[in-house]
Amino acid sequence: MECSICGATAVYEVKYNGSALCKNHFITYVEKRVKREIREQVDFGNKKTRISVAISGGKDSSATLYLLHKILSERRNLELTAFTVDEGIEGYRSTGLEKARKLCENLGIEHNVISYKENYGYSLDEIMKIDKKTISCSHCGPMRRQLMNRISEYTESDYVALGINLDDYAQSILMNVAKGDVARYARMAPHSYTREGLVPRILPLRKIPEKEVVLYAILNGIDFDSSWCPYYSMAQRNSFRDIIEKLEKETPGTKFAIVKFFDETRKSIREHYVNENVKLNSCKICGAPTPGEICEVCSDLEHIRAIDNET
Ligand SMILES: [Zn+2]
Ligand SMILES: [Zn+2]
Repeated sequence: MECSICGATAVYEVKYNGSALCKNHFITYVEKRVKREIREQVDFGNKKTRISVAISGGKDSSATLYLLHKILSERRNLELTAFTVDEGIEGYRSTGLEKARKLCENLGIEHNVISYKENYGYSLDEIMKIDKKTISCSHCGPMRRQLMNRISEYTESDYVALGINLDDYAQSILMNVAKGDVARYARMAPHSYTREGLVPRILPLRKIPEKEVVLYAILNGIDFDSSWCPYYSMAQRNSFRDIIEKLEKETPGTKFAIVKFFDETRKSIREHYVNENVKLNSCKICGAPTPGEICEVCSDLEHIRAIDNET
């Protein structure tokens, strides 16, 4: 297989457009598309822009940080920082955290760690021992989102960048469709608007297939952690992954088509489902923005403490 551009040995076959690429042209191909996504998602304006990358040490978030650092290095009014949310999962998080720390050190990027234990009094391991009935992601989702906000406010970031690849993104879109959750569909990142106290999230890799992210990371010598969260139940997402893979195999380009459909429908849907002007309240306990009186995390913590005190 030869590179369609220069004739050198190809490292990747681009099935959805019938071309093949050598190492150098593959790297340029990925970077060009990420650059375009960033331009579409970030409003640089004339002021200084600070982007904070949420890095777990896995391939997607590590590649995101590496790419942003490389692509945006010529922009003088841009600052990159990174952070890791430490849920407190013995054996799993520590490996990722170490890889994340090393990558930031190599790139010369400030890295912060924010933990469940310090902020909520419990690590996820402890929570799972106390509350045996609730699945981990129900605790984890709101807690992680809240800490992402907290650390971004602390580092005065304008955006949080997440390492979501095309496969993950297409799956999330279809999952919201299949659940009929239009409100969540409308609220999906990337966010072009800001609501008080909520830092908008951007997804620089949302149009890069997972395979390409892995290859990009390997070709650039990025050392990433490939383990999975031990609490994560893949069951539901896996069926969506299988369906999309089948469609993609039959019709290459399906994943892009799903994202295109999302982009073109979301704007009009958002007008009906997301009122960007609605004022959020401050949680009466912790002060975090919430549509109600007490935020999701604080009411979850009350529930956890109640069980903890019984036993
Ligand atoms: Zn080439
Ligand atoms: Zn709260």
